Amino acid sequence: MALILLLIALVAVSLALGMWRASPWQWAVGLGIVTLAWQCGFFHGHAHWPHVGFFGFLTWLALAALGSLSVAEVRRRAVVQPAFKMVRGILPKVSDTEQQALDAGTVGFDAEIFSGTPDWTKLRAIPPIVLTPEERAFLDGPTEELCRMIDHWQIRHSERRMPKEIWDFVKAHGFLGMLISKEHGGLGFSAQAQSLILGKIASRSPDVVTIVMVPNSLGPGELIEKYGTDEQKHHFLPRLAQGLEVPCFSLTGPTSGSDAATMRDIGYVTKGEHEGREVVGIRLSWDKRYITLGPEATLVGLAFRLFDPDKILGDKEDIGITVALIPANHPGVNIGRRHLPSGAAFPNGPNWGTDVFIPIDWVIGGEKMVGQGWRMLMECLAAGRAISLPSSATAGAKAMLRVSTAYARIRRQFGLPVARMEGVEEPLARLVEAAYVNEAARAVTASMVSRGERPSVISALMKYQTTERLRRAVNDAFDIHGGRAICDGPSNYLQAAYQLVPVGITVEGANILTRTLITFAQGALRSHPYLYKEVQAVQDPDSKKGLDAFDEAFCGHIAFSIANATGAFFHNLTLGLFAEVPERAQGLEPIYRQLSRASRNFALVADLTVATLGGGLKVKQKLTGRLADALSEIYLVSCVLKRFEDDGRPEADRAIVAFSAANGLHRFEEALRGTIENFPNPVARVLLRVLVFPFGRHYYPAPDELGSKIVRLATTPGEVRDRLTRDIYISNDPDDATGLLEVTLAKVVAAEEAEKKIERAIRSGIVRRYHGIDWIAAAADAGTITESEALLLKEVEALTARVIAVDHFATEELMPNYRKVAPNLGHNSRGLAAGANQS
Ligand SMILES: Cc1cc2nc3c(=O)[nH]c(=O)nc-3n(C[C@H](O)[C@H](O)[C@H](O)COP(=O)(O)OP(=O)(O)OC[C@H]3O[C@@H](n4cnc5c(N)ncnc54)[C@H](O)[C@@H]3O)c2cc1C
Repeated sequence: MALILLLIALVAVSLALGMWRASPWQWAVGLGIVTLAWQCGFFHGHAHWPHVGFFGFLTWLALAALGSLSVAEVRRRAVVQPAFKMVRGILPKVSDTEQQALDAGTVGFDAEIFSGTPDWTKLRAIPPIVLTPEERAFLDGPTEELCRMIDHWQIRHSERRMPKEIWDFVKAHGFLGMLISKEHGGLGFSAQAQSLILGKIASRSPDVVTIVMVPNSLGPGELIEKYGTDEQKHHFLPRLAQGLEVPCFSLTGPTSGSDAATMRDIGYVTKGEHEGREVVGIRLSWDKRYITLGPEATLVGLAFRLFDPDKILGDKEDIGITVALIPANHPGVNIGRRHLPSGAAFPNGPNWGTDVFIPIDWVIGGEKMVGQGWRMLMECLAAGRAISLPSSATAGAKAMLRVSTAYARIRRQFGLPVARMEGVEEPLARLVEAAYVNEAARAVTASMVSRGERPSVISALMKYQTTERLRRAVNDAFDIHGGRAICDGPSNYLQAAYQLVPVGITVEGANILTRTLITFAQGALRSHPYLYKEVQAVQDPDSKKGLDAFDEAFCGHIAFSIANATGAFFHNLTLGLFAEVPERAQGLEPIYRQLSRASRNFALVADLTVATLGGGLKVKQKLTGRLADALSEIYLVSCVLKRFEDDGRPEADRAIVAFSAANGLHRFEEALRGTIENFPNPVARVLLRVLVFPFGRHYYPAPDELGSKIVRLATTPGEVRDRLTRDIYISNDPDDATGLLEVTLAKVVAAEEAEKKIERAIRSGIVRRYHGIDWIAAAADAGTITESEALLLKEVEALTARVIAVDHFATEELMPNYRKVAPNLGHNSRGLAAGANQS
């Protein structure tokens, strides 16, 4: 009994000291009191003078040693210096390009999650969706009009290219210059506005959004706006904003895809003739592929590695990655033919050049920015990854939900709308979750960027999470539609999304890499409160300064790790009942508590993973991938709570919040469990099992009943369905394939009672429903339904026939034009034979 009491006292005191990040002497005093209590017999129930045996004496010695660590000199010699040497050996080596990637962005709410004790007020302080009246008018005006103009079949199939009227419209209305400042002739829209505008277009056509998205993301416009010389700004920005120049950005080549920094495209600083004068310039050779807008571009942004063998610019020979602007019609520039990415219509193709001379002032930012290319790209990507693809993936998920909920309620089988079948309810509920969660996270993240943050870790997780959720959403929409989705044609509103999902997955950092390498590995370094400081300290060439910095960071890190271990254990033992909840949580307390608890567990496992794997972090990608998922789920569920609050806590949405949070926490747990079960160090594995799962698993997927409830909400025309699909293009034109769905859904809902009466009459044999029989008239004649109900049902029948119809074609209509020309596998650039394997 006494031993049990001792153990309880030790655990209680350790938990308290650990969670409060006590200093060594405080630990010594705390544990000393327990030791004294034991030696005085308090745990045996009869107090006496202390009895100090041999082990008691050793205990006091150990406590004295522990307390002495509070003395800086002792701590340094005994612990910090040996640790400094050891850490130098195990911490990941950071290359130049990685360093630039790390320095590029800002840390924000990701650091709160890594801290294990998220400050919810910081999340709440991020502004809700705010658009200026001008931005709102643009979204409701020209953007709506553009969407209405789009004939996706003409684009995807009949023409297989962007129609001139679409190009003219986007250029004339300034769509290509949304990120260019007003001062330079652009629209100067906020990140939030750009995100919503791109999303709306994406919900109508993934092809059209691409031609708008690319000039508004990483590329000439953004790079000139941020780093260009005044001359470049004054010349190019107004031209780009008005669409007088069509830009593309060329980074990827046949040998440098994900590993873009190892590109073989090179430039040598040299002198040459330009416009009749001898100038300092660059002789360039490059070979790029997959370049969006390339075949139509007038201005090529080109990334290459620059060398200065004759030291014309300075002392350095290997200057580094540099970005220049080259007119597409400059002598020696080859703009290739078109790739055919997933059958898409947006222009995409290779470009190359050999020994092309350009003047040095074509480098973005001029001579002073040579070698700064990678830093520039990483800085832009840190924010850009949060906008373009998350916006289109979010709008895509909303569009999948809008059409699938309508179709599932219109389409009847076995006498019921398929939406009422539990098997179909499952994918429908997933669609509701995808649309709600993607939008929640999109809005929060875009607001962060609007207020000047460049959240590199959050943007990476947003990119892969939202596009993966869209992939699932498109597949779910296909399953719900059955054959109606599979047969392509002018009335098929799903195929374009299905075809183009892999593009979003692959570009701006392919998802596998973004998940397993960028999000957690980079996140651990950037967002962890101490790790980056330790890395910088051990790499400091001034070893005295480095050791001082390391001492501070390392001691903080130890206290942090102990706080995580004790905090996680405490919250897991108490099931999160005492975890942090912000003020005015109004019914969301249980979810906030579980998120705070989850964050503690994540911080603990993440910290131990980094400590255990050190430099091996980059290769243990199955672990880092799972930790990226765990981090993502906490972020996404946090955004769900923020969205609910920002939306004014609509009561009807509570079920959607509960559903999304339950599933998100469940996936979080699966990811964390997978990490722990595969932890390479067996001692750490056992320790983590005890600390994180003292009672086994915590979280279960959302209950089926909740899924049914949210599907009923989403399949009913009205406020909730509209809120779930806000800011996408919604047509109400019965001659438009998606407009037809809206019109039919309203009628189907109105006719539901009459439909039930007919179903009953059919089952009881009063009415027969076969081709060639007017069963509605028969039901009216039999008195089953009234005349007005018969009229409504006739209308529903006609509309439904159109909704479920699929297109059919004469064989010759389906012959693709590209079969008439010989395929060319290579493009003959830089010595590659035609037919060389480039893809
Ligand atoms: C339609 C389309 C448009 C594009 N537009 C442009 C453009 O405008 N400009 C431009 O410069 N580029 C563009 N790209 C190129 C795009 O950025 C690359 O395709 C992308 O970076 C991946 O390179 P890759 O296709 O060569 O794949 P690879 O690099 O060969 O990768 C293959 C797979 O391996 C994974 N992988 C690679 N390395 C790692 C690692 N270390 N750890 C884990 N997984 C890894 C990747 O995630 C991927 O799944 C475009 C591509 C497409 C398809």
